[in-house]
Amino acid sequence: MGHPQLPPIWTVTLPSHWATAPERMSVSALLQMESCPKRWSLSHADYSDLWGYDGYPPKPNLAALKGTIVHRALAKVVTALVSAGCCSILDVDAIAAIATAGGYTQIIDAATRQLLDETRRNPRSARAMHILRRKLTSHTPSIRHCVQTLLARLDLASVRAPRSRAPAGTTLERRPLGFGTHSEVHLYAPSLRWVGAADILSLSQGGCEMIDFKTGAPRPHHPFQIRVYALLWSRDPVLNPAARVADSLTLSYPTEETMVPPPTARGLELLAQELRERSIAARAAVAGECPQATPAPEECALCDVRQLCDEYWDTAPPLTRAPDYPHSVWMDVQVRLTRQTGLLQWEAVWEKPSTTPREAAVSVGWSRADAAAASNWRSGWRIRLLDVLLTPPEDGGSEPRVASGGMSEAFLVPD
Ligand code: SF4
Repeated sequence: MGHPQLPPIWTVTLPSHWATAPERMSVSALLQMESCPKRWSLSHADYSDLWGYDGYPPKPNLAALKGTIVHRALAKVVTALVSAGCCSILDVDAIAAIATAGGYTQIIDAATRQLLDETRRNPRSARAMHILRRKLTSHTPSIRHCVQTLLARLDLASVRAPRSRAPAGTTLERRPLGFGTHSEVHLYAPSLRWVGAADILSLSQGGCEMIDFKTGAPRPHHPFQIRVYALLWSRDPVLNPAARVADSLTLSYPTEETMVPPPTARGLELLAQELRERSIAARAAVAGECPQATPAPEECALCDVRQLCDEYWDTAPPLTRAPDYPHSVWMDVQVRLTRQTGLLQWEAVWEKPSTTPREAAVSVGWSRADAAAASNWRSGWRIRLLDVLLTPPEDGGSEPRVASGGMSEAFLVPD
């Protein structure tokens, strides 16, 4: 339990019940279980004392939020285009179809508002909501540019789907897919117990094309991911009772488009076998309480539960350069508070990472935006500070200084 004057989210809290492997596996779950079983387990365990949703509240991430807005806006525009029988955004009816759906800006604004409403439920987001709102609003032009770039490459006629009979739209309803272009197709292969969601699946008499939109840079697992979607499609008896196979797989990035060779019949068999074996190993890795942690700087830097992970704090957390502060770095630090020197100013001793001599003095200054929480801190508390700005001692030998930034967080470590 944390301090009664501190919101529960800001105390290092282990799960009331550890996670069990999901009934249905997905690419993201498999990759996370394989890269660090403890991260998956901590992220998906039960924290019903913290909030009313599954898993640990994620740290709000601007890039991930932007990606979600782009995907939702794309789904809305594609649905509008297909419903109007358009083959691309160059079609004569495309502008009218998009305008009828509200126009790009309004579609993006609505997706942003909806996502911010969802994010507001997250107790970890409360202090950052004004920053997220401001940043997402200021990014509307770049989100719009990304949506338009990805749409510009979209050729809805490439599979020669019949325009007037295209059953458009998001395919949450599970029934056989007809000819036409479908967005956000939720795939399920019961023989494998695997799920996935294809951004675009276009089906015609003579072809089946799958497109996955990516809003970031190419990553090594992207070709694997879309090949898995091709497998799930071929093994989804409800959406695809004829067991048709995808003959075109495309990864569409803001900067480029990558064609991925579709698996042959033999390739699908091998991929299915690979998924079975990897699923068994991943399920075993996350079985039981407190699975193994496998610290790795790149993974840990993106880990939403690193404040709960002792193995992480016993390694050297990664540093991130701070371009606006050339003498400082962004990093995670564990300190013990020793004396309050101002409303939001503390003297403390450095505890972790242990690359700095233990018991070294450090001064901590916290943001006024989070004054309500930080003003309740007490001498003797051990605190894990995430994403704080560390400035080394200046000439003359004063102690290093730790200061919070817009996305910093502070977690009390109970004794
Ligand atoms: S901090 Fe690193 S080692 Fe710990 S759970 Fe996260 S990814 Fe795994």
